[in-house]
Amino acid sequence: MHPGGQETKSDAFLVHVRELVSAQQYDTWFRAVSLHVEADGGLVLLVPNKFVRDWVSSYYSDVLAQAVRRSFGEARSVTIAVDPNAPPLKVAVAPEAGAEPELPEGPESPEPGAQPLPRVETGSLDSDTVLHDQYTFENYVVGAGNRFAFAAATAVAEAPGKNYNPFFLHGSVGLGKTHLLQAICHQILRTRPNSRILYLSCESFINQFIEALENRDVAAFRQKYRNVDVLLVDDIQFLANKERTQEEFFHTFNTIYNLGNQIVLSSDAPPKEIPTLQERLVSRFKMGLVVEMAPPDFETRVAILKRKARMREMDLPDEVAHFLAEHVSTNIRELEGAVVRVLGYASLEGRPLDIEVARDAMRDGAVSRSNAITINDVIRVVTDYFSVKLPDLQSKRRTQSIAFPRQICMFLARENTDLSLSEIGGYFGGRDHTTVLYAIEKIREDAANDASLAELLRRLTTGIRS
Ligand code: ADP
Ligand code: MG
Repeated sequence: MHPGGQETKSDAFLVHVRELVSAQQYDTWFRAVSLHVEADGGLVLLVPNKFVRDWVSSYYSDVLAQAVRRSFGEARSVTIAVDPNAPPLKVAVAPEAGAEPELPEGPESPEPGAQPLPRVETGSLDSDTVLHDQYTFENYVVGAGNRFAFAAATAVAEAPGKNYNPFFLHGSVGLGKTHLLQAICHQILRTRPNSRILYLSCESFINQFIEALENRDVAAFRQKYRNVDVLLVDDIQFLANKERTQEEFFHTFNTIYNLGNQIVLSSDAPPKEIPTLQERLVSRFKMGLVVEMAPPDFETRVAILKRKARMREMDLPDEVAHFLAEHVSTNIRELEGAVVRVLGYASLEGRPLDIEVARDAMRDGAVSRSNAITINDVIRVVTDYFSVKLPDLQSKRRTQSIAFPRQICMFLARENTDLSLSEIGGYFGGRDHTTVLYAIEKIREDAANDASLAELLRRLTTGIRS
């Protein structure tokens, strides 16, 4: 269909694009695109999804124009279109309108054609946590691991309910999920002061739901959670093993979604890997845009370190930033901790901010922080010792051979990591914080009365720390 020469030119086009952008950018945005020459000579760039389309057209139009000139010898306009046959890239994109999910079944179903409740006049943020004022888009350093996530978050904040709904952000701890969720809140509050925003942790959704059940006040609960323009739930993985709450959240989700309002969720795992999450929730969560965040690369770590120092009105010299970036490799929260420590060290000792001070600061405590013990260290040592498997610890089994090592894990995790009770519960099949607290107290008491248990805990602790 296409004249042969044109085919070659469209291949050449991508070669030129590759020359014009970094390898990282190419890989992120152009790996799955192709250029087609229409019969009338028009150019169509086929991209895998709406997200790439929006992004490429906003930020790479100059690159496209230049690559066209280089490969076709003249300026031509390029239409960017979503390739209907494209497999999902790293992101999953919502089915187009028309593929609306069915209404929820059951008595809670909203009336067909239910009208949104009247809007409150002034903007409101309802939240169980105070927003952190530093968690803004402006303070967010963008790099390879979070480029998609950042772009999508800003797009959501720009047009809530329109672009990517739901927006599901996942990645491991300390990579900036909470920061992005709160940045969305800040931005919407700034630009759409009339919207009703509800930001909360999943735990608090669970707790308030349980409370509502106990007080027989479910109607008020629903009124609060369903009557919003934007619902953001942080750490949605805590829905694991909470059947009743999952049921309730399913209806909350549908009501908000069907009214065209925005839902934003974060999690430490992709939807299908959240243990025991009902299939219908998994499919709801995947309906919009699912974006994974990766740990920052070296350059991004350096940029983050410098930014964090700037926020404290200090300039981090390159060599110090490089040194820290080499020693703290994955978690952004720890990068921040390293900056605070080094700045504190220099100021306390009245020393210049140089590599020596960085070394000393990292040696004193920082080293153990940067190699901080993780829950995985605890799990590894305990499962080894008891010859049990992690899925058993995460299961509902309560036999002593499983429950005991599980309780030991919880106790040691609490002693050796910064994780909260709920976070620990999350690792062991989504158990709630009271269960974790009970386990910890039990082990502590038993160890006080049983020298051999105390000795075992000491040995396991040594194993974890080595
Ligand atoms: P998560 O919710 O994924 O565990 P957080 O959002 O709590 O992570 O981030 C941990 C810390 O790191 C916060 O202080 C946050 O401001 C900071 N942080 C994370 N990502 C970035 C980034 N890209 N730029 C600047 N600071 C970041
Ligand atoms: Mg978080």
